[in-house]
Amino acid sequence: MLLTNIKLATEQVSFLQAVRQGLGQQQGLFFPTSWPKLDIEKLLAMPFVERSSHILKALIGEELSFAEVETMVTAAFTFPAPLNPISDSISCLELFHGPTLAFKDFGARFMAQALAKAQQGKNTTIVTATSGDTGAAVAHAFYQQAGVKVVILFPKGKISHLQEKLFTTLGHNITALAVDGDFDQCQALVKQVFEQTDLVKQLNINSANSINISRLFAQVCYYFEAVAQLPVAQRNQVVFAVPSGNFGNLTAGLIAKALGLPIKRLLAATNANDTVPRYWRSGQWQPKPTVATLSNAMDVSAPNNWPRIEALLAQGVIQRSDIETFAVDEDDTQLGVKQLAQAGYTSEPHAAVAYKALKRSLADDEVGVFLGTAHPAKFKEQVENILGTPIGLPETLARSAVEQSLSVDIAADFAALRLILTALEPA
Ligand SMILES: *Cc1c(COP(=O)(O)O)cnc(C)c1O
Repeated sequence: MLLTNIKLATEQVSFLQAVRQGLGQQQGLFFPTSWPKLDIEKLLAMPFVERSSHILKALIGEELSFAEVETMVTAAFTFPAPLNPISDSISCLELFHGPTLAFKDFGARFMAQALAKAQQGKNTTIVTATSGDTGAAVAHAFYQQAGVKVVILFPKGKISHLQEKLFTTLGHNITALAVDGDFDQCQALVKQVFEQTDLVKQLNINSANSINISRLFAQVCYYFEAVAQLPVAQRNQVVFAVPSGNFGNLTAGLIAKALGLPIKRLLAATNANDTVPRYWRSGQWQPKPTVATLSNAMDVSAPNNWPRIEALLAQGVIQRSDIETFAVDEDDTQLGVKQLAQAGYTSEPHAAVAYKALKRSLADDEVGVFLGTAHPAKFKEQVENILGTPIGLPETLARSAVEQSLSVDIAADFAALRLILTALEPA
């Protein structure tokens, strides 16, 4: 299946080309213009990896064989996505059982597989900026992958200690750069890298960021996995609540619906960075300066996947009424974490934002699923402050927490970054 640049319909690329390129001309996102028909009942009866292989094969098309896709999915999806019941009508889809304890493991690990296919042995350098979860997921996904070097820029001293240890302690092909600046400066440096066409070409640089279509397609699979775990009688009443920042997760859920998965509607839940809920009410796209919240992985005021959601609406495969939007403030987020704890479930601020949206929207005859996007231990400090009780660390975090950080300090200066990039040993 060909993917089309949303900004420039004449630019069409194959799946693997889109994986290699990331973005199209004029910074346009790649996206399908039509969707395969799937036998939903048959798919829901399959185990996770087999079902996901069929879904991804259908989305990718002829470029890869089913056997190739199945090998990739088997290597990427090595952990489950269980539905954990909170009450009779509400469950949490736990997406944090991967190596870095966040849903981004699904997308990053599938992207690592797809990029290996797309590069066909050519060396690649991945340069990415992170405020936390993305860096960890990308670093682990590409760790020790032949022919790939990963360079991760993060704002020194501005991300949680645990978060940082997940990608600064790996070594080998992973270089972590502690930038003397904030996250925006890290992103600006990465942007500068991509403006140097000679350097990009010479080192074959890729960003592996969340707009890569392979990450999005991988995320479609766990919506199917959620529905498959529900009793058959409930499958036509499902409402998903999605904690949203860059809106990749919501886009993936809408794609699942466009593919025919029975989803009644999806709730886009944001924190105080409420560009989308305001836009949904007023029709005016007016991002404000980003504000810091408890659900910091969602502190985004200009969500970069939104044009894809507009495309789904324009294609007519998604209706406006399929989406409801909610902004959840800090008090309500804390209340959500507390209410979930009272129900016997330790959660964290991102999932709690979605839970609160679900509580506002769910009707009596409906079944609600909110996405658990990160393990509560990843936000240990916030959760302990809200609940007033200590929470334990799972093994992955406990192990990396005591390891030595191998990050290198650099100034927020492009010349310094360029020097490091060009000095990297070939992978
Ligand atoms: C990245 C992230 C989100 C936001 O997901 P988007 O796809 O960008 O909307 C939510 N929760 C956690 C824990 C995250 O890491």
